[in-house]
Amino acid sequence: MDDPNTTRRDEIAAGLAEVERRITGACEAAGRSRREITLVAVTKTYPASDVRILTALGVHDVAENRDQEAAAKASECADLPLTWHFVGQLQTNKARSVVSYADMIHSVDRPRLVEALGREAVKAERRVTCLVQVALDEDPGRGGVIPAELPALAGMIARTEGLALGGVMAVAPLRGDPNRAFARLLELSSAMQEEHPDATVVSAGMSGDLAEAIANGATHLRVGTALLGRRKPFVR
Ligand SMILES: *Cc1c(COP(=O)(O)O)cnc(C)c1O
Repeated sequence: MDDPNTTRRDEIAAGLAEVERRITGACEAAGRSRREITLVAVTKTYPASDVRILTALGVHDVAENRDQEAAAKASECADLPLTWHFVGQLQTNKARSVVSYADMIHSVDRPRLVEALGREAVKAERRVTCLVQVALDEDPGRGGVIPAELPALAGMIARTEGLALGGVMAVAPLRGDPNRAFARLLELSSAMQEEHPDATVVSAGMSGDLAEAIANGATHLRVGTALLGRRKPFVR
């Protein structure tokens, strides 16, 4: 019998090698350096043991989208040199918990959330990097501000003690060309950087569209399925 952990390690190593091959290819095609890109492994629904394997394989950025699962996993992995990202829709009553482990929150999309995160970050004596999530389609159900609201929310984050404005994040619309969506995001990011030159993060691209994201200036890719396998449907 195979040691199940060795097998799982081989699976994840193969997924990572394939993802790295795609990233390198997309960087070459775009004339960019691999060093401009941070691969963030989205570990939602997968156990802390997978996070441990990823760390051993050299991946130190991990993301979750639900506070309860994230908090438990972060505490199980407290001994590892990890940067934790939060990428899910966030309720203000989870702000205290999330600032206790998250280094970068990708999904900031409203003033009340900025207030709550700032207040809790100050209390916890943490400085948390926030990205403004931008909605690139007409579907408000997936979170994000409309582009017209981006400058005001970015300004608010930049002025809030305990928070740092890191940049922008988006999920490509379910239908349509991801290139168009990511090109729009890059435009919005460039405009934002005129006011906020340090807000250079462009979080875009998932398992299915990471090459399009790289072609359009992404700095952070959020990749789950292509690294860890297909998730079981989540039932709330
Ligand atoms: C789950 C998730 C991802 C990863 O998606 P995959 O298609 O599995 O790579 C990226 N971003 C967000 C916001 C997610 O919730």
